[in-house]
This record gives sequence, C-alpha cells and structure tokens, in this order.
Amino acid sequence: MIANRGEIAVRVIRSCREMGILSVAVYSDSDRRAKHVRYADEAYHIGPSPSRESYLNGDKIIETALKCGADAIHPGYGFLSENAEFARKCLAAGLIFIGPDPKAITTMGDKITARQTMIAAGVPVVPGTQQKVVDADAVRKIVGEIGLPIIIKASAGGGGKGMRLVRKESDLISALKMAQSEALSSFGDDTVYIEKYVEHPHHIEFQILADKFGNTVHLFERECSIQRRHQKMIEETPSPFITPELRQQMGEAAVKAAQAVNYFGAGTIEFLVDANRNFYFLEMNTRLQVEHPITERVTGIDLVKEQIRVASNQPLSFKQEEVFQHGHAIECRVSAEDPFNGFMPSPGLIRHISEPNGLGIRTDGYVYEGYEIPIYYDPMITKLISWGRTREEAITRMKRALYEYKITGVKTSIRFLERIMDNDDFRNGIYNTHFIDEHMDELMSEAPRGGQIFEDMAVIATYFDYITKMEKVAMSDFTVTQSCDNWKTYGLKKNLQRI
Ligand code: ADP
Repeated sequence: MIANRGEIAVRVIRSCREMGILSVAVYSDSDRRAKHVRYADEAYHIGPSPSRESYLNGDKIIETALKCGADAIHPGYGFLSENAEFARKCLAAGLIFIGPDPKAITTMGDKITARQTMIAAGVPVVPGTQQKVVDADAVRKIVGEIGLPIIIKASAGGGGKGMRLVRKESDLISALKMAQSEALSSFGDDTVYIEKYVEHPHHIEFQILADKFGNTVHLFERECSIQRRHQKMIEETPSPFITPELRQQMGEAAVKAAQAVNYFGAGTIEFLVDANRNFYFLEMNTRLQVEHPITERVTGIDLVKEQIRVASNQPLSFKQEEVFQHGHAIECRVSAEDPFNGFMPSPGLIRHISEPNGLGIRTDGYVYEGYEIPIYYDPMITKLISWGRTREEAITRMKRALYEYKITGVKTSIRFLERIMDNDDFRNGIYNTHFIDEHMDELMSEAPRGGQIFEDMAVIATYFDYITKMEKVAMSDFTVTQSCDNWKTYGLKKNLQRI
C-alpha cells in the first residue's frame, strides 16, 4: 500500500509492477479520479480532502491496509513518511514499514539530537549550539563564540519553515521570541537552536542506501542550491561545484552519518558547503526524496526497488565499487503556480497537456487532460528529468523538453524554469542558494523565449474548443471581435488580441 498521492504514489507503483508486487492506492474525496488511483491494482477511499483527515490519518490507513491484506506500507515523501509514531504503529499491526527503524526517524527528526549524534560520530556540523536555546543569555553566549550572522532554527522544523536569520545584535532577542512562537505554531514545539549563518552556501546532499546486513553505500551527490524560500526548485548531479576529492570525503562522511543511527533503507544526508568548500552536516531525511530520479538516472539504480528489497530483509543488489556517475542529470520541479504573479498557486482544470519526450527525458507526474488539480495539496505536478553525456547536453535537453511542455487551463512554472536554463551563471555552473533571489529581476523581466508559438497555438485551440463545445456555436459563425466578451472566464482575451 502506498500511503501517499500524486506523482510519488505513481512512481512507487511503477516499481511494484516491475517487481510483480500488487499495489494498493488510498485516496481522499478530491482524489477519486487521480492517476495513482487508476494506476494501482486496488484503491480505497480513506477520508475527506484535507490531508489531516485522509493522508495524515495513520490509523485509518493502517486499518485499510489490514482490511485489504497489504503486507507493507510505502509512505512516499511528506505526509507520514517521517512520522516515527506511524512507523511504530505499522510494525505493531504486523505491517512492514518501508523505511528505517522508527528509532532512526526519531533521532534524525529532532535536529538538535541529530546534531549531537553527528558530533559524536565525528561528522562536521554547522557551528552552533548543541542544546536548545531558551533565553537571551544563551543567545548572547553563542553569538560571543561564533559571531553574527546567525540563523535560529526550529528543532522540529522542516520544509524550509521556522528559520530566522539575524544579522544585527539589536534584533537577537526579538528574533528568538518570534522563532519560538513560529516553531510552536508550525510544529507544536517551541524548541529552537542556533547555527552560524553560512554566507552564499551550496546545499549538497548525498543519497544513502543501507541494508540490514551492515552494507551502507552512497550513490553520490545532488546539488540542490536552486531554491526559492529555502525550497528546492532545480537539482542536478554531479554538482558543478565540488571536486573529486571533496566528493569522496563527503560520501564517506554521509556513510558514517547513516551508520551512526544504524540506518537501513533509503535516506539522504544534507550538507551545506561554504565558498571555501568546507562542508557541514545540515540534516538527514529518513525517506525517499523528491529529487531521487536524478540519482537513478546517473547511477542506473532503482531506489524504490532497493527500498523494497531492504524492507523484505534482502541485501542491497550491488556494492559501493559498482556505483558510478554516468553522465549528468537535472530535475526541474514543475508546479501549478504563477511565477509572474508572486508564485500564486493555480489549481484547476487541465484543459490541454502535451508532455515532453525523447532521448534522455523522464517525466514523473500525475496530471492528465481533463484532470482537476485539487486546492488541498502541494502545487508540484511533474518532475521533469533530463540526462546528457555532459552537463551542457543535459541543460540543452532540459531546455528542449521545457519548450515541448504545454499545459493550458492552469498556470505553471515552466517558463520560469526555461529562463533559468537560459541564464549564463546557471549555464556556467556558478550559483549558490541565493541564485533565484539574486537573479529575480532578470528571471522576471526577460521576454518569454522558446515555446511561445506553441503557447499561442494552445490559446487559439482552447478558444476553438470553448466556442465549439461549450457554446455550441458553429466555427464559421464567429469572428474574434464579436466573441471576445464571452471569454473572460478563460482569461484568454488579452492573449488572443496579442496573437
Ligand atoms: P528544512 O528541514 O526546513 O528544509 P534545512 O535545515 O534543510 O531546513 O535548510 C533548508 C535550507 O535553508 C538550506 O538548503 C539552506 O539554503 C538554508 N539554510 C539552512 N541552514 C542554514 C545556515 N546555517 N546557513 C545558511 N543557510 C542555511
């Protein structure tokens, strides 16, 4: 059973199908017509649309799994994937949880405990506190040691939330109070700690796989520095920033980090790397990552199959010496949101979709023509992955794929991603986590490039579709000017006038 929805549910079912394992989907009210429901061998309704009442309702999910006779639960990412309590309940109910031991989730899920564990294991962490920070004295003490700027973070934090950057001494105490109350309201826990703010860092993470027989391997890195509001938007591997020596050191540190919590299954060790190429442990994600396909593309290893193997007490199907980075892969997260209007979410009906294809292109998505994207969940609709023998080829291929990618009915981030592919600094591999902020003006202001003709044609096609199907007006009867007033609902008038 896949206790998730969207592209990751489809992704997991694909591997099950290849392994001859029957799959079970679960769905909320608004996901009745979702692709994962159609694609799985069986599907069961688990509750209303808000995730709290469906995809986060662990008891209902376990009850459904037991009723339908599922052997194991794959939690995907997000939702219950890093919930130790849920993992424990699965095991107690006699189900296999496709993930690590709940103890490892607990240790790594609390960022302060994770830092302490890494320090004990000899893995470098970002300079900062080892204990929680409760008052002004503790803040001043650590600032005296590491200096400003600092970042105050929620110990239970995740998803880029609950972080506060402080550059000025006079802001320290108010920032502490705000961080504590934000942590309490977002995560139900006001525990915060302090890290040195690393200027212009790279976010580089290592993929780990480990079995229950003591084999722990890494599958190299993913460079995830193209972020907006601390959330990843584009990832690539290999990183254009690190050297072969640093790659080896970081890979060894990542294996050590996983071994320190007796980890098994798939996991990710995230590091910050500063401008001088010093690296520091940031956190561990004890689950499959959104960006796992780029690792699969360059190593050729199916991470979901290995997760399932490990969960069924089999050894990994390969050894560290057998893992190579072959070529270069990039992932773009395509979301139903409008980058040119403050990244406003844009749920709604997909009127037309034409996905890219061809050599070196993979799309992990879940939407289809006629599907209505619900308002309740994450706006990401597709992960577009390109592969090339070189970084340059992967970039030009990604550009070509973005050019081919057409969706009408909802706004998407496709054109914004296309502009990043065109950006000279990105193309030269010179970027860090501030790339989007620093380039926002040019990413916003340049005239849209490739794909415009297709977009124009799609607008016209949507218009014809509207006239003929919705209004039942014979095509020969209309003129553009007469009908314009009726299309406001589609927001097409301006576009059509431009064309
Ligand atoms: P979350 O668990 O919420 O994703 P992380 O600790 O993984 O939070 O950090 C997310 C992003 O925030 C990082 O990729 C980086 O861009 C930024 N960040 C976090 N800690 C620091 C730091 N100490 N210095 C500079 N940037 C940081």
